[in-house]
Amino acid sequence: MRRLISTLLLGFSILWIAACTSSPQKPSTTPLPAEQVKKLKSMQLKSSLPIPVQHVKAKQLKDTWGASRSSGRTHEGIDIMAPRGTKVFSATEGLIADLRNNNLGGKVVWIMGPGGSWHYYAHLDEHKRGLSVGDYVKKGDLIGYVGNTGNARHTAPHLHYGIYLDGKGRGVVNPYPYLR
Ligand SMILES: [Zn+2]
Repeated sequence: MRRLISTLLLGFSILWIAACTSSPQKPSTTPLPAEQVKKLKSMQLKSSLPIPVQHVKAKQLKDTWGASRSSGRTHEGIDIMAPRGTKVFSATEGLIADLRNNNLGGKVVWIMGPGGSWHYYAHLDEHKRGLSVGDYVKKGDLIGYVGNTGNARHTAPHLHYGIYLDGKGRGVVNPYPYLR
């Protein structure tokens, strides 16, 4: 009898797990407004972009592209050093596409910009208050504040800025030449 009960329980657990894993996955991000996505795709990313951190001048920038990182990774972006709380501005117009924290980047902002480009702003201390997925930002709009969240927690506060030309996380290029 006891064996029957435990067999039944095991059977139910397997069914329950199967039911959970086969349920449709929630979309990872809120769908973006189609009109604005279309408009952005028809535009071109400029070859020169404003430095996305307040008060930082081009001559202060260091090209940190390709520097080695933990677990054999190389650095996919530029680190722009600035005091904690310094304002971070969008380098392009675009749609706020993702605001979820991740282990490496900490508090981040993903922006879908012109011509299929995506822009990644990481290690933020805070997002701009009220910023939401689907918001349309102009070049130079405030999106957050410099910090050292994520894997930067043992380093000085800085903005990690990444540019991807072929969609989210795809077609990474060095942002440094864009910021001269
Ligand atoms: Zn970085």
